[in-house]
Amino acid sequence: MSTLYIIGTPIGNLEDITIRALRVLKEVDVILCEDTRVTKRLLDKYEITGKQLLTYNEERSGVSFEKIIELLEDDKKIAMVSDAGTPGISDPGTLLVEEVRKKNPKVKIESVPGPSALTTALSIAGVPIHDFSFLGFLPHKKGRETLFKEIAVSERTMIFYESPHRILKALVSLEKFLGVKPLKKVTIARELTKIHEEVKNGTPTELLEFFKNNPEKVRGEFVVIV
Ligand code: SAM
Repeated sequence: MSTLYIIGTPIGNLEDITIRALRVLKEVDVILCEDTRVTKRLLDKYEITGKQLLTYNEERSGVSFEKIIELLEDDKKIAMVSDAGTPGISDPGTLLVEEVRKKNPKVKIESVPGPSALTTALSIAGVPIHDFSFLGFLPHKKGRETLFKEIAVSERTMIFYESPHRILKALVSLEKFLGVKPLKKVTIARELTKIHEEVKNGTPTELLEFFKNNPEKVRGEFVVIV
């Protein structure tokens, strides 16, 4: 019986990969990727060749669970990576682990930890993190307002992921529910580990003003911490 490795990969800077992750990627037979083109860039940088790359996603349009179980039962070593960061954190991975455990409990599932935008943002936000809630991506419509209300009254640090298309909308909602002169501050961590990495702290009104004056910064990837 073989092993399924769940590997954390960089969230921007391709140097953010562990020695163990590189060794395991070199040793496995098959790599399950969210997007093979993205993973290929990482493999090319570290000259890892000769691997079978299979597209895996949890909408089930890529390789099936049955095929993955078959490969594992055939003694193939398999690694699973997402496009960036830690699989399962707002990314594919969770269902795969659940399914493999259910279908064949003898398969060894090993973690090969790496970065995540969640922990990276918290590590440089300078806010209390002994007690926080991670909300992933907020829903676009149903339930979105309820979550902003929860964020506004929570005594915990609240953290969520946001896209450039919705970041201003999210700040407008935070302004609405936190108020114009809130006690709570908001931190936006943007483009972490990349050239334009930036952390901005302020009230939602101040941050809206900042992005209005710097529209070129309404780009890239965002983590929001309240
Ligand atoms: N699995 C990833 C992780 O462990 O963080 C998250 C993948 S999720 C599909 C992508 C979202 O994570 C982005 O929209 C953004 O909110 C956040 N994210 C990923 N990389 C980031 C970065 N370099 N800087 C800021 N946020 C990032």
